Amino acid sequence: MAARTLLKLPHSATRQLRHPVTRWQSCNHRPHCFLTQVAVLRGCRKSSQSYLATLVQSRSVSAVSVDLERPVIDFNSAEVAFNSKTTFELMRSWMIFKICSFRVVVRHCDSLYAVSLKVLGANLTHSIMRHLMFNHFCAGETVEGIIPRMQQLRDYGIGGILDYAAEAKDEPPVAAEACEETTVGAPVSARTFDYKGESMCDANVEIFLKAIHGVRDTTPNGFAAIKLTGLGNPMLLERMSTCLVEMTELFRRLTTEGQMDKVRQPYYCMDRSFLLDWDTFQKGWRSMFHVRDEEELRQFFAKLDTSGDGVISFLEWSESINLSEINELCRSCTEEGPLFQAALDDAELDLYWNMISRVKKILDEAQQLGVRVMIDAEWMDIQPAIDHLVIHLQRIYNRQGQPLVFQTYQTYLKGMHSSVLHDLERSKREGWCFGAKVVRGAYMVSEREKASNRGLLSPVCDTYEATEENFHRVINAILEHNSPKGSEQTQNELLVASHNRGSVEYTLQRIQELGNDHSKVHFGQLLGMADHLTFTLGTHGYKAYKYVPYGPIDEVVPYLIRRTQENSTLLGAPGVQEERKMVTRELRRRLLRF
Ligand SMILES: Cc1cc2nc3c(=O)[nH]c(=O)nc-3n(C[C@H](O)[C@H](O)[C@H](O)COP(=O)(O)OP(=O)(O)OC[C@H]3O[C@@H](n4cnc5c(N)ncnc54)[C@H](O)[C@@H]3O)c2cc1C
Repeated sequence: MAARTLLKLPHSATRQLRHPVTRWQSCNHRPHCFLTQVAVLRGCRKSSQSYLATLVQSRSVSAVSVDLERPVIDFNSAEVAFNSKTTFELMRSWMIFKICSFRVVVRHCDSLYAVSLKVLGANLTHSIMRHLMFNHFCAGETVEGIIPRMQQLRDYGIGGILDYAAEAKDEPPVAAEACEETTVGAPVSARTFDYKGESMCDANVEIFLKAIHGVRDTTPNGFAAIKLTGLGNPMLLERMSTCLVEMTELFRRLTTEGQMDKVRQPYYCMDRSFLLDWDTFQKGWRSMFHVRDEEELRQFFAKLDTSGDGVISFLEWSESINLSEINELCRSCTEEGPLFQAALDDAELDLYWNMISRVKKILDEAQQLGVRVMIDAEWMDIQPAIDHLVIHLQRIYNRQGQPLVFQTYQTYLKGMHSSVLHDLERSKREGWCFGAKVVRGAYMVSEREKASNRGLLSPVCDTYEATEENFHRVINAILEHNSPKGSEQTQNELLVASHNRGSVEYTLQRIQELGNDHSKVHFGQLLGMADHLTFTLGTHGYKAYKYVPYGPIDEVVPYLIRRTQENSTLLGAPGVQEERKMVTRELRRRLLRF
């Protein structure tokens, strides 16, 4: 027996994904206009560009692959959607749409801003900006400053996912790139990291701690959003990722006696479905490592086979992956291949432990205050490391009856569905609560570009429809896993982060069909966007959240301006038009009363 298939992926999800036109399909609601908000607010040029290009491409695509006979909730009521807004705020929303529709203004708004700073001065300029864009997209400048906005959201049953937006936490790793060369041959290299970066990571811990307290004080049932690139050098995350990819590849190669794949599959598509028996394992191992004595190898096999059933599954293999041991393992490699090159050296391991202790400091505080934390997903070069760290943290912190740490799954990545199934299975086996934020993904364009420049297969689904199907399959898999119709009730939780009305309606329908506890399913949209989804969900008793950026206005406004520029081509999108029409309808209703 060389290899057996471990996981049979359920296809019940695909049954839901037929394509008849539904009542809401014609609306094709995808409010694209400000989708770059969070990314740009955080100074994340890369991700905001991805948002932009992604959305340009997705505009022409039908948003629907769901068969809904009757939506569970009617999202068409402008009155419900904008009930929380004063007429002034509605006029401001309308005006933001309008101003953004003048390309020439948008194109030159950075120059206008610079001129205004010179002529009117920073105070006056920022006070104008405050009443225009800032108050629409941001909750305030400080934790204290956001209290009224958070209270207002709470009044409508809406929680917050707090994100301190001013710190450039995920700037491209300039310093790291400079030392990329030294990462080659890691086990023996003496590489250096930018320690100025490390001290910035320490400073970011304080910011995240403040955000945790902010959640406790302003939105007790909410979340804090954290990017791991704020807590460790992105280059270290990239090195860790390479190491994890090579360990996954090693698992595959062991089943084929060391043969390399002709074409390397994207990470989440790499075949993990084998069960390695002793025979196959020892043959493969001997072809790649020096083996001193058989007994030692047998002990190693027994250590990996945690269930003791005589075969090693990928879950067992990945559970046993200890980044700090790979360096040691590589000393017995028969050749200095990719895994040898990928192993972390001692200096890197020190940085790795520093990062872990930073994250733990934040999560210890979060646990003490009962604040849940979402770890954002980022770009593919570092995502395997983020996944690995988050699983490690979930094992520690998600054991007290509800998940404290939420993993983010990007469903535009090929193979993400089976990765989610693995993690569901893993959480069940290991006895911790699964917590997931499911998104489509924000880095599509750069991911595709990088893969093409490197001559690799793109990790991103080839079409919008494939991403959509993946998105819904993942949501469905988690809901089915949590369904009381399954073998046992779980405390797992899901947050569907999307402005796509079709996906929200799909989720609601599946909750209803499967009889899920809807208090364990959350929905998230960015502040200032898709209010008709968030407020309607909140009004109907669903767990709805706004992703709430906050930070000093002088740091945030330049990002808001850049975001508006980047989105100028998207302002004709159907979703935006629908949102604008709803705002106009509500304004007319209110103003014509008099
Ligand atoms: C609360 C919240 C938290 C978020 N957190 C994260 C995060 O941690 N990490 C992250 O990466 N993103 C995050 N996002 C952004 C998210 O991934 C999406 O980019 C964004 O929400 C747009 O997707 P949608 O479902 O709202 O809209 P839609 O318009 O339905 O979908 C647009 C998305 O579809 C995909 N797509 C578009 N065209 C194509 C194509 N041709 N081929 C394949 N796929 C395509 C892209 O992913 C694109 O972003 C978050 C969003 C929200 C609301």
